[in-house]
Amino acid sequence: MVLDGRLRRGVHGAAGEIGHVPVEPAGEVCQCGQRGCLETLASGSALDAAWPRGGARTAESLFAAAAGGAPDAVAVRDRFAGAVASAVRLLVLTVDVEVVVLGGGVAAVGEPLRLAVADALRKQAADSSFLASLRLADRLRVVAQDRPVAAVGAALLGRPS
Ligand SMILES: [Zn+2]
Repeated sequence: MVLDGRLRRGVHGAAGEIGHVPVEPAGEVCQCGQRGCLETLASGSALDAAWPRGGARTAESLFAAAAGGAPDAVAVRDRFAGAVASAVRLLVLTVDVEVVVLGGGVAAVGEPLRLAVADALRKQAADSSFLASLRLADRLRVVAQDRPVAAVGAALLGRPS
């Protein structure tokens, strides 16, 4: 995690391990041993499990089916987007970053992913003027799968200011 231009890893290197924040007490057991981690809901492997008919292009297949109105695809997409939105909310409420970049394999979906997560963020803020005032949906960006976000971030960090 980079804050104010500095890499923050925390005492044991766990800072920013947002994928292992438990969000569903009765959820699935995560590979880390906890139950209901964000990663069990909001990751490429979570999508593979929830939408097995997608083959090698699970995320694209799912979002295309959802855009076509298939109710089961809409349900899987919205659950996924809701979990990603919860992660974005948690991150912003913890460190109040200006921009949240969605990267990784699922980001190959592009704009439909951003729209789905932005929609979920607006729904989560519907009953909270406080949350709505933070304009989380507007902070969201998606970068193409072939852009190594972490490496680019590391390179920018090493650049003379
Ligand atoms: Zn975990």
